[in-house]
Amino acid sequence: MTPPSSQIYIDGTFYAREDAKISVFDHGLLYGDGVFEGIRFYKGRVFRLEEHIDRLYDSAKAIHLTIPARPAEVTEMVLATIRKNELHDGYVRLVITRGTGELGLSPYLCKTPSIIVIASTISLYPAEKYQKGLILATCATRRPSHDSLSPAVKSLNYLSNIMAKVEAIAAGGEEGVMLNTSGYVAECTGDNIFVVKKGVILTPTTGSGSLYGITRRVVIELAAEAGIPLREMDMSRYDLYTADELFLTGTAAEVVPVAEYDKRIIGEGRPGPITLQLMARFRELAESTGTPIY
Ligand code: PMP
Repeated sequence: MTPPSSQIYIDGTFYAREDAKISVFDHGLLYGDGVFEGIRFYKGRVFRLEEHIDRLYDSAKAIHLTIPARPAEVTEMVLATIRKNELHDGYVRLVITRGTGELGLSPYLCKTPSIIVIASTISLYPAEKYQKGLILATCATRRPSHDSLSPAVKSLNYLSNIMAKVEAIAAGGEEGVMLNTSGYVAECTGDNIFVVKKGVILTPTTGSGSLYGITRRVVIELAAEAGIPLREMDMSRYDLYTADELFLTGTAAEVVPVAEYDKRIIGEGRPGPITLQLMARFRELAESTGTPIY
């Protein structure tokens, strides 16, 4: 639960939760025009903070938005917000909105982008899901491809992911698999996807239409370190149905196993040995590295 005393950073000032407000003319609200990051901190250190800040600036650049601060300053805003809330373990939502403008699409009438930092706690899935595995279902809504708004942009417009999540839940899933417009697997509504087949880890290429996930990158590093072969390739639902193991990665989800997908039991129907190994290594890494907060 979020402590009632939480302090939210908006454009240089901390506000109590109930007073943390932005204009109804902000294009972040009117059009979903803006970018964001979800960042985790463990035991007083922020995990992969530099990579999150880099991706934030890349997302902003791609949508032609100039963040009104330098990366080192935004980094300090994140750390200061965690300190202000006296937290050691939790989640940060860093949001850049286009700023206050007019009732027209043009972003060029918006004066200054707003920078918002919320430090809180998060638990995406209940603890038992990490022991038993999630249930997935295929969504009808396709992940927009690179000829549309690039799926690499972590934008404030998550409606297609939200529609996909609605479809996954309607189909009895806890998370949904999103395909790209060619019918290949892109990712889940809020996580990247990996499978294990005959000792090899496989994951869709970023070109398939996924976010360039930071946890995905960590898992690729951990696999290399452990000497487990890994390939990035085009993957279909068939590759997921017939996997020995299936797991998802994301900042909020971390590494989470999957037990069932579209009513097919995956492997033995419980987390497999490579998934368990990566979950353990991920936890060790997350709890022993990162940018010190205090
Ligand atoms: N895909 C989507 C659509 C996401 O929103 C996220 C983040 N929740 C991810 C993948 C995972 O990315 P990361 O590991 O960088 O959090």
